Amino acid sequence: MLQSKTRAWVSVDRNAILHNVEEIKKLLDEDSEIMAVVKANAYGHGDTVIAKLLENNGIHTFAVSSVDEALNLRRVGVSGDILILGYTPPVHFHYLIEENLLQNFLSLDYAKKVNEFALAYGVKIRGHIKVDTGMGRLGIRYTDDEDGYEDIKAVYQLEHLAVEGIFSHFSVADELDEENLNYTSHQIELFEKVLERLKEDKIEPGKRHIQNSYGILNYKLHYDFVRPGLLILGVTSDDAIPIKSNPDFIPALSWHANISYVKTVQPESSISYGRHYIAKSERKIATVSIGYADGVPREVSNSGMEVLVHGKRCPIIGNICMDQMMVDVSDIDDVCEGDVVTLVGKDGDEQIKIDEWSRKVPTINNDMLCRISARVPRFYSRLK
Ligand SMILES: *Cc1c(COP(=O)(O)O)cnc(C)c1O
Repeated sequence: MLQSKTRAWVSVDRNAILHNVEEIKKLLDEDSEIMAVVKANAYGHGDTVIAKLLENNGIHTFAVSSVDEALNLRRVGVSGDILILGYTPPVHFHYLIEENLLQNFLSLDYAKKVNEFALAYGVKIRGHIKVDTGMGRLGIRYTDDEDGYEDIKAVYQLEHLAVEGIFSHFSVADELDEENLNYTSHQIELFEKVLERLKEDKIEPGKRHIQNSYGILNYKLHYDFVRPGLLILGVTSDDAIPIKSNPDFIPALSWHANISYVKTVQPESSISYGRHYIAKSERKIATVSIGYADGVPREVSNSGMEVLVHGKRCPIIGNICMDQMMVDVSDIDDVCEGDVVTLVGKDGDEQIKIDEWSRKVPTINNDMLCRISARVPRFYSRLK
C-alpha cells in the first residue's frame, strides 16, 4: 500500500530521469550533446534537483526561460553553461556578467543593447544567436529571399558579445502529415543556408542546435546540441500523436493526496459546490485533500475523470474545490481516512498517465505538468 508523505505531494523518480537521458542519447549522433531544458521549474518536477542530478551525470549545459530561473540554478551550485531562451530585461543584464550566463541574442537591436552594456563594463557577454526559420516567436527572421542574413552577421561582429552558438526552433516537429513534414524540412533548409553563408563569410558559427523533444523523436540531424525538455521527464506532449522512433521512456512524475474523510450518503444527496452531482443510490464518498489551488484542473469537474484508490479506478464527482475534491469509492473495501489517492502514476496494476488529465481538460502534457502548483511539495526517489 502507498504510504502517505503529507497532505498532497509529487514524487519524482530520479532513476527514471537518468534512464530517459540514456534513451535520448540512443537517438543522437555521437557528437551531439544534450542541452537540458529545465524551464518552468523543470515542467513542475523541480528545476534545481533535476539540474543537479543531470550535472552529476554528465550533462553540463542547461536552458531556462528567464534570468530568474538561471539564478535559481546558480544558487544551488549548478556550474555548467546556462542559456536563457527568453528575454532578459536590460535592468538584469548585470546578472549575465555576474553569474556567467548565456543570453539568447534574439534580434539585432537587442544584441546591440547587450553589447553596449558589455562595453560599459569592459567585458564580453556570452550568448547564442536565435534565428527564426518559421516559428515566428523570437529570433532574427530568415526567409527564402535571405532577408535577415545581414543582421545575423552583424550580431557576430559585435565586439563585446561572445557569440558561442546559433539556434532555431521548430513549430510543427510533432506533426507527421506531408504539409508539416515539408514545413519542418524547410526550417532545416533555412538553418542550413544560414550556416552555409556564415561559412562563406568565414564566420565560425559556434554551437548549432534546433531540435526540441519532437525534433529529436522525428528527425535525425547532426548538430552540436539537442534541446529536450519533456523527454527527460519521460513524457511527450500528447500520447495520441504518432512518432517516428520508438524510445522506452519512463514518466518520472507521480502525484498523490490523502483521503481526509469517508462517508456514506443517501440517494438524492448532492455533493460539492453547484450541486452538479446528485447521488442516484446510496454511495460511499471520499473527500481528498487536493484541489485546484494544487493544480487539479477545475475543468475536469463532472467529466468522469478518475483517480486510483487501493489500485482501483474511482471517479471524481462534483465540482473540484480549491483545496479538496470528492471521489466515489463505493466499490472499494476498507477505504479510510489517511489512505493515499493517486492522481498520476501507478498503484498496483493500474496507472493513470498525465495524458489522461490533459485529454480531459483538454490541453497538452507540457501545460498540465506546469499546472501542478508550488504548494505541492516535491519528493525525490533515492538513486539506485
Ligand atoms: C521549451 C523549449 C524547448 C524544449 O521543448 P520540449 O518540447 O519540452 O523538448 C526547446 N527549445 C526551446 C526554444 C524551447 O522554448
